[in-house]
Amino acid sequence: MVAGAQNNTQVRFDQARIATLIAERQPDDPIAILRPWVLRRTALSFLNGFPGQVSYAVKANPASDILHNLVCAGVSTFDVASVAEMHAARQAMPNARLHYHNPVRSASEITQAKALGIASWSVDRMSELDKLGQLTPNTQVAVRLSLKRGGGAYDFGSKFGASPDVATDLLRAVAARGMTPSLTFHPGTQCTDPASWADYIAACAEVAQRAGVRLAALNVGGGFPALPRGGETLRQRLFDTIAAANKAHFPDQPPQLWCEPGRAMVADAMWLLLRVKARGDGVLTLNDGLYGALGEWRDMPVPARQTALNQQGRPVTGKLKPFTIFGPTCDSLDRVPAPWMLPSGIADGDYILISGAGAYSLALVTPFNGYGTREMLNLDSMVEPAGQCRLAG
Ligand SMILES: *Cc1c(COP(=O)(O)O)cnc(C)c1O
Repeated sequence: MVAGAQNNTQVRFDQARIATLIAERQPDDPIAILRPWVLRRTALSFLNGFPGQVSYAVKANPASDILHNLVCAGVSTFDVASVAEMHAARQAMPNARLHYHNPVRSASEITQAKALGIASWSVDRMSELDKLGQLTPNTQVAVRLSLKRGGGAYDFGSKFGASPDVATDLLRAVAARGMTPSLTFHPGTQCTDPASWADYIAACAEVAQRAGVRLAALNVGGGFPALPRGGETLRQRLFDTIAAANKAHFPDQPPQLWCEPGRAMVADAMWLLLRVKARGDGVLTLNDGLYGALGEWRDMPVPARQTALNQQGRPVTGKLKPFTIFGPTCDSLDRVPAPWMLPSGIADGDYILISGAGAYSLALVTPFNGYGTREMLNLDSMVEPAGQCRLAG
């Protein structure tokens, strides 16, 4: 209750600072606004609530301020998909534990990754396991399983993941080669269905049983949904389901659980402040779009919310009506597929504050046509020097 009241005060405080920013600066370029206290609160909810170990999937938002604040909150393991992400994680934390869970890699990437020290690799085909060659003892290899089952808003199983038969062979081979065997999967991003995790955990137990291998770890992936306020109950229900399924399907000795959230960790920690360049009849052209921080909107319904603010930073009035949203580039594909509901009074020069915009937003910005969100404002730096680690409590 007390924490909730504090949070509401903090939210109003953040909103007031955005209003001041608008009134004083009239920013004409898009701005990504980092809210460090939200990021640390979310990190703690995973670290304290998830029934195992937590890593952060860097691809959702690799900004150095994001990684730094996660380290401040106690995150020390990072799921990385490229050498650049390894360096970004180590920059935030020199001794960070790295999970290289992109199952396909070039020979050169493998050499560079080995030099950096990888705690866990994932594989989904024999040729990629062979390519890893000799690994230091105790290195974990996570076989990535895919059930052809939807679940999330966007299916990850269509590109990576072995069938249960192939996964069984792979797991056997991992154990035979003296590596530490584990299994992993990804239920699809923005997945709200607890049964997705439960079904996968059941299938993992079957694969391990058929392979005759005892799992050291079971990594239940990312996919956790970004949640509207009050959604913590659903997150806890997902955690409880995962813990129960792990106990039920591995009754003798449940493997250590890991998760690797991307979206759910960072979505709420960032707002996007965009400006209306021009209003037409039921149409708004904004200063960023699908080639910029709205890149993900093309492919899935993004769980974000929009608020229209006028040039004084106050809410725009008028009945909500649908607006077609265009980005600033000259490409007609630069258009959000579904209209946004915004107040009818919105005008040229007004602003749209998008909350829940921290995941797959900045990470997808391209410089196409000279546009794209580049500036990031850390709300902490408006009141104290940037870069300090104020520990969350
Ligand atoms: C993208 C990715 C994640 C994070 O997924 P979210 O849906 O953003 O939580 C985790 N693990 C792997 C292997 C990924 O590719």
